[in-house]
Amino acid sequence: MIMWMDVLQRKKENVVKRLCNGGNMKLKIIELKKEKYRYLAIVEYLDENMKFYPDGKGGQLGDRGSVGQAQILEVDREGNLFLDIELGLGEHSYVIDMDRRCEIGKNHTTQHLISAYLKKKYDYDTVGFRMGEEYSTVDFPSLALIDAKKIKDLEKGINKIIREDMNIEILELSREEAGQIESLRKSISEKIVGKIKVVKVEDFDMNACGGFHAQSTKEIGLFKVINYEKVKKTITRVYYKAGELAYEDYYEKHNIIKKATTQVSSTVEEINGKIDCLLEENKSKTKELSGLYNKYSELLCEKLKENSRIQGKNKIIIYKKNDEITKFFPKYIENEKYSVIYGEEGNFTVMSKAINCNEIKNSLEKIGYIVKGGGNSTRINLRIDANIEIIVDIFVKLL
Ligand SMILES: [Zn+2]
Repeated sequence: MIMWMDVLQRKKENVVKRLCNGGNMKLKIIELKKEKYRYLAIVEYLDENMKFYPDGKGGQLGDRGSVGQAQILEVDREGNLFLDIELGLGEHSYVIDMDRRCEIGKNHTTQHLISAYLKKKYDYDTVGFRMGEEYSTVDFPSLALIDAKKIKDLEKGINKIIREDMNIEILELSREEAGQIESLRKSISEKIVGKIKVVKVEDFDMNACGGFHAQSTKEIGLFKVINYEKVKKTITRVYYKAGELAYEDYYEKHNIIKKATTQVSSTVEEINGKIDCLLEENKSKTKELSGLYNKYSELLCEKLKENSRIQGKNKIIIYKKNDEITKFFPKYIENEKYSVIYGEEGNFTVMSKAINCNEIKNSLEKIGYIVKGGGNSTRINLRIDANIEIIVDIFVKLL
């Protein structure tokens, strides 16, 4: 009997779904305001039972869809619509994206399951829930509640409930009736007026909620925790995906791992070990290279000193590059004896005790250059649209 009722209910839902996607629901735009890149349409629904669900209500995502040729970008708390293009006032047909609403329902129902599972098993209370386009989060109030072992247990537990195909009913009750249910996971907020919707997942969970839900746990299909962390010092936040989002996540990550195995010539099982090896190898190569740079710089600096430009009592080294060698200039070039000007492509450095280096920037600005960068009296970095010869000329004039 229950099974037949279930089938009938689903048939009814499918009709509703078809209606929403292809039906002729109408609303009236009574006012349209331009807001930066979008338009806010103040609307009156002619079918009161089929409104766009507002963004953020109950921590959920809002509906999307279209009104005439316009796409819905956001839905405000009153059900008014942010549109991508301008529409005229008056009556328009609209379509709600029911596939999206369905996925929202799956991800939201999963939150009920997570909260109920952790409450039953460890007596953890849920203190927050947020749904995003890419993932959802549930918050628990403790610093050290969740660890890798509990996350694995949660994943296995929820996926088992999904496979068990538990029926999900929405009961519409008066506050008095709802108040008599002892097994409600959370007490009912005083803010709720009128009929109270209670979501019942067989004998597993009962909780008051006005959002979208799946009709059975099997519809959810797949559940995966993608991360967990401590936030604001007192909360443990669990990040998860369910339904299509969870499948897409698995698909994407599988491809990423597959590509990585090809990139580092490894099997999936060996990939972490292989990456550790490569990182270690890279570390020792970097160290080796740094030693070679050091030795090469010493030799090159000797050459640069031999070929330095003599300007009165001053010796100037000009090096037209910004490479690794320049890091060793302070080590191998005595700043008492030499001034150094180096750089390329608009990025230059001057190191000198012969002049106040800040004066170079001032002089360049005086003749009309726009100069960025800065430094002190003995070293300055200049970012300027000019070539190195200009810097050298100014430097020589300042001697
Ligand atoms: Zn709910």
